[in-house]
Amino acid sequence: MNNHHVYEKLNNITSEQNVMVNEPLKNHTYTRLGGRADLLVTPETYEQVMGIVKIANEEGVPFTLLGNGSNLIVKDGGIRGIVMNLNKLNEIKTDGTKVIAQSGARIIDTSREALKQNLTGLEFACGIPGSVGGALYMNAGAYGGEIKDCLESAIVIDRNGDLLTLNADELDLEYRRSNIPDKGYIVLEGTFALKEGNYEEIKAVMDDLTFKRESKQPLEYPSCGSVFKRPPGYFAGKLIQDSGLQGTQIGGAQVSLKHAGFIVNKDNATAEEYIRLIRHVQTTVKDKFGVSLEREVRIIGEDLE
Ligand SMILES: Cc1cc2nc3c(=O)[nH]c(=O)nc-3n(C[C@H](O)[C@H](O)[C@H](O)COP(=O)(O)OP(=O)(O)OC[C@H]3O[C@@H](n4cnc5c(N)ncnc54)[C@H](O)[C@@H]3O)c2cc1C
Repeated sequence: MNNHHVYEKLNNITSEQNVMVNEPLKNHTYTRLGGRADLLVTPETYEQVMGIVKIANEEGVPFTLLGNGSNLIVKDGGIRGIVMNLNKLNEIKTDGTKVIAQSGARIIDTSREALKQNLTGLEFACGIPGSVGGALYMNAGAYGGEIKDCLESAIVIDRNGDLLTLNADELDLEYRRSNIPDKGYIVLEGTFALKEGNYEEIKAVMDDLTFKRESKQPLEYPSCGSVFKRPPGYFAGKLIQDSGLQGTQIGGAQVSLKHAGFIVNKDNATAEEYIRLIRHVQTTVKDKFGVSLEREVRIIGEDLE
């Protein structure tokens, strides 16, 4: 790829401060590890998003979408081509009992906006550190709630570059998955259908969930949240704990002592160490309990050469 040529083209449709060259992705991911992006671009309008997708297609350049980086491990060799982050598309508005959020807005801020407008239904999301786009992609959820329960519709761009408005059921939202990766959709906006509620009651639920999260999760270290999905009939954290894995460390990556379902970047871990520890946990749990732990977190990018 001729990076300079692609850089110039990206610059022409966005602006210089929206295109970063050779950008360390550890500055953009919750695990605080991973290599560099050849080009990291942060569009400010939907037209720019479409323009960037067009450039990637025309130039045959690899294209990767990064949300808030809270469910990703970027390998140490980084990501070739264009990485697009939508964090500058972060408007949140309300229309009656609906909250409409652009995909780069944080789902935490979206739930706070709902609280401000006395709207109930998004309390569960008050501590999930993802973007709206990432939350739809993962059908993020916590404490008995999930995106599927309150999403009404989404605006997306499909592989042909067409803008579509989809009903929530067209995204096939299931436990920690959607059809967004299969269809190659880029989410631009989500509309959440909420209900009128009482400010104090909504706030009390959010405060309670925040307290639970802060007391149970190792938020003092960088991590990607729960590494594994809940295996049917089990809890991943309990299986890991009962396998005696808590505190196990490979390089700077450690199975959290506070919550066995988390792997923390305790001491400048590399992605290679983090991923090796994930595999070690999977193998140990399989050997001890015969249960396969499926990763919730996504691993992207290239190994170091
Ligand atoms: C401390 C901590 C606690 C967490 N707690 C929870 C929890 O309680 N519940 C839960 O479900 N998750 C939790 N997570 C995981 C994570 O926050 C969610 O999975 C979140 O939805 C990921 O969103 P993101 O924007 O960070 O996505 P990223 O991690 O950046 O990306 C994840 C995937 O989404 C895709 N994506 C991102 N934006 C878009 C878009 N606009 N259009 C299409 N695809 C897109 C990316 O390409 C990527 O494949 C936690 C993570 C951490 C670090």
